[in-house]
Amino acid sequence: MRSELKKMMDYCTYCPKMCRFSCPTAEATASETYTPWGKMEIARWLTDKTLPLSEAMVAAVYQCVNCLHCQQYCEHGNDVPSALAEIRRMAVENYAAPAPVYTLEERFAAANNPYGLDLFERVRAHGPKPEAKRGKEVLLQPSCHTMHYFPERIGVYFELFEKLGIEGVSLVETPIQCCGAPLDALGFRTEFQEVAEVQYYSMKDYRWVVSDGPECCVTLKQKYADLGFPLERSSVPLMEFLEPYLRHSNYRSRGKIKRRLAYHDPSHLSRYLGLVELPRRILSELTGFPPLELSWSGLDSLSSGTEGSYDLVFPEFGEKIALRTVEELAARGIGKLLTADAKAEAVFRRLARGFEVQDFYEFLNEHILPAEAPANEG
Ligand code: SF4
Ligand code: SF4
Repeated sequence: MRSELKKMMDYCTYCPKMCRFSCPTAEATASETYTPWGKMEIARWLTDKTLPLSEAMVAAVYQCVNCLHCQQYCEHGNDVPSALAEIRRMAVENYAAPAPVYTLEERFAAANNPYGLDLFERVRAHGPKPEAKRGKEVLLQPSCHTMHYFPERIGVYFELFEKLGIEGVSLVETPIQCCGAPLDALGFRTEFQEVAEVQYYSMKDYRWVVSDGPECCVTLKQKYADLGFPLERSSVPLMEFLEPYLRHSNYRSRGKIKRRLAYHDPSHLSRYLGLVELPRRILSELTGFPPLELSWSGLDSLSSGTEGSYDLVFPEFGEKIALRTVEELAARGIGKLLTADAKAEAVFRRLARGFEVQDFYEFLNEHILPAEAPANEG
């Protein structure tokens, strides 16, 4: 166990649970055991071997959605997900993880992605035309969640690239259809390393590796580098990649849109990558109005209950976490929710009550006119 992880666990032991209120899983389960403090305490006991890797103890270390919200309220800047990750690896190695964890690994082994299906088959029809492919300039690595839930979205991205004059983007075509983030989150150290290595060698010659998946971006940028596969310079979130083109291209928008729409910050974009101001600026410039703010937003945004494959291990609590955002939208009569995370979008769509859910990039594409179309105020 690395000493900085032990130090984090010690900080928690002597802490009066300063971050308790920020933890979505503690809130959803109404359990003190699942507060960041409780989970770190259990992690310490398991590390010290004071307690055996029992089902209940191991379940506690999986009761974290990796949202990093607790860090916002921690004087020590503790990274609870990283500390718990060590114990998850220990649990996996000892065949002590919850059963759904192994189901994901089986699916991954069958099809190189967490869904156990050939995702490229559904996506290929929406990629660039073969003649439009160019060298090793820009690689689009869509999240496996986008490919699974919204394969047609790939076509939307390429339409948007065309409107903004972005050329030379290729669609990823490796046998591995995922960056490996779900394996990493659930504790499959060796399997994740293998995926990272293959992906690194297939991506390293591109100038830019662009991904729409918030967790993919963090994985490519940070987790691969931790393993000695440095893509942090070339890896860029789709939102950041689009920003200079939006700024410099003379695109025409449909005009001002005054409607009650809110933006949900995926925690990996806001807290891990600091992309808080950017989506708001893009939306304001496009529509003439800033999006409405949810009561928990930006660096304080609420988890969607889907990060780190938490929804696979604890579907009932994952849904309960997502419902907090859904209930606020319904209560405030907000007509539309935008988000930039396919898995969050899928769950919000499923639970939505009286409001629409749309992908951030799909919204941009809808409101940016093709060069030849006449603009009108909407
Ligand atoms: S993460 Fe920080 S604030 Fe939360 S219990 Fe641990 S030491 Fe306290
Ligand atoms: S990362 Fe999120 S879910 Fe995990 S302990 Fe911190 S607040 Fe709770």
